[in-house]
Amino acid sequence: MISTKKRTFLETPISDFIIPVEKVAHVLVGNSAEHALLVLTKTGYSQVPVLDTNFHIHGLVSSKVITEAILGLERIEYEKLSQIKVDDCMDRNVTILKIDDTFQKALDLVINHAFLCVVDYDGTFAGILTRRVILKQLKKYIYQTSD
Ligand code: AMP
Repeated sequence: MISTKKRTFLETPISDFIIPVEKVAHVLVGNSAEHALLVLTKTGYSQVPVLDTNFHIHGLVSSKVITEAILGLERIEYEKLSQIKVDDCMDRNVTILKIDDTFQKALDLVINHAFLCVVDYDGTFAGILTRRVILKQLKKYIYQTSD
């Protein structure tokens, strides 16, 4: 039997916890893999969203997919970096949350993702929700609640 406190917590909207769009490092569709690698290296993030100029999500790009794209038979072909576009190597399989989704839904999904992209009511990119933030909230709840 789930307590009222727990239900209220699980039903908290994720909008309270997201990193907003203006603080999210991202690249644009059409950018080169070289630019994406620079963004990833300089920010230290393992993966960032790929957006268009209308703030729609197209995919996720990581150092891993870029390295795979320039991997030759015997060497890493760095010279290809400037020719390849993020569109050619990004992961298009993005798990998306809506801004009014609940903490419970996010909790289920972050088991398999370090972060999740969140879209607004009109489908535009609103920001991300990280596993770190979800765990922090969960920890706060566990230590504050006795039942
Ligand atoms: P963290 O929870 O801060 O360790 O972040 C986990 C992952 O979420 C990072 O490796 C990035 O892929 C992504 N991430 C976190 N914060 C940002 C941000 N401000 N901009 C873009 N991606 C982010």
